[in-house]
Amino acid sequence: MAATYRGRDVFRHLFAVGRKKHCGKLCAYLKERYEGDAILCKNGRSALAIALKSYFEPGDAVIVNGFTCYAVYEAVQAAGLVPIFADITKEDLNFDINTLDAAIKSRQVKVSQDKIKGIIIQNSLGNPVSVVSIEQFAEKHGLTIIEDLAHCAGVKYPDGRECGTVGAAAAFSFGKDKVIDTISGGAVVLRAPVKHRIKAPSKLPKFSDHLRARFYPLFGWTCRKLTFLHLGGVLMKILVAIHFVEKSADNRLDLKRKISKFEAKLALKQFKNLRKSGELPIREFCFVKERDTVLKKLAKAGFYFDGLWYKQPVSPERYYKKLGFPEHDCPTAVSVAEHVINFPNYYRRSDLMPAIDIVREYLWEEEK
Ligand SMILES: *Cc1c(COP(=O)(O)O)cnc(C)c1O
Repeated sequence: MAATYRGRDVFRHLFAVGRKKHCGKLCAYLKERYEGDAILCKNGRSALAIALKSYFEPGDAVIVNGFTCYAVYEAVQAAGLVPIFADITKEDLNFDINTLDAAIKSRQVKVSQDKIKGIIIQNSLGNPVSVVSIEQFAEKHGLTIIEDLAHCAGVKYPDGRECGTVGAAAAFSFGKDKVIDTISGGAVVLRAPVKHRIKAPSKLPKFSDHLRARFYPLFGWTCRKLTFLHLGGVLMKILVAIHFVEKSADNRLDLKRKISKFEAKLALKQFKNLRKSGELPIREFCFVKERDTVLKKLAKAGFYFDGLWYKQPVSPERYYKKLGFPEHDCPTAVSVAEHVINFPNYYRRSDLMPAIDIVREYLWEEEK
């Protein structure tokens, strides 16, 4: 469970005092663990954008997992790159060498083959890719690997190496529900010599963003406790409407601002505890038929699974429609997005039993 969501953590988060030295300590820790230069950022997408700008030229194309968060797309855009979406497998929700190969030959590719320069490994929901075969693929095609660790900090690849110690760079998100969760914040570790030196963010977050990050655990916790008459859900909608709470997808990319100092302090603490929690996938998933019915039944039983990862191949829906996703090239991602359900990490596993029973009734088997 993300550390920020238990009652006592709400208060720790509200009153944590961060100092400049905590930023320094977090950088030093990342530098040692991931062996590169660490830069602290406003959020994960800004961190990823800095990684991409450091190793690619505008106009280059990078391969992206065809089942992802809008934040990734935003980072690719901000770096002036062209995304190529690779389809996923149902087993681990990641691309593999077959879908990668299909992606670079697919209709969506409008650039010349020699412009395809990179690949972003995401390890969806904490399920690691078969990294050795992907490294071979990257080597064969001259691709630079960037690792996105939003879902998989602390996870190990099948060959025993830790996620974040394989690519040219590792980008972290410390956003809501991520493995390292301080509500906002991010970091990038540049492991290989960079092509372009990007200026590190120097301004502190806006005061309003700082306040939102301080109070979110309290708001989230309160809303989850208010199950009576679904009052919690109503309250959350109000908090979003008056901008006291920001939806994760709307958190702006900003290359000038860094993390709040108190978040750096909390992130460091969570990194040190990773070994205990990092073994499990961040969200367990399965596939259901009639997902809307399942979600309604879950809500009735007091479980709000609305923020599923992901209901569209690039989530959330309000951004998906605009980006012209190549559904034709990613049929598995499209079908997975329609059927997937996953268990938010803000519920304790032992409390989830009634939810698992509901889900079990609707399990989806693909017709052969
Ligand atoms: C959440 C997320 C990010 C970064 O998100 P921020 O909200 O910008 O911190 C990056 N990649 C993936 C796969 C994510 O889910």
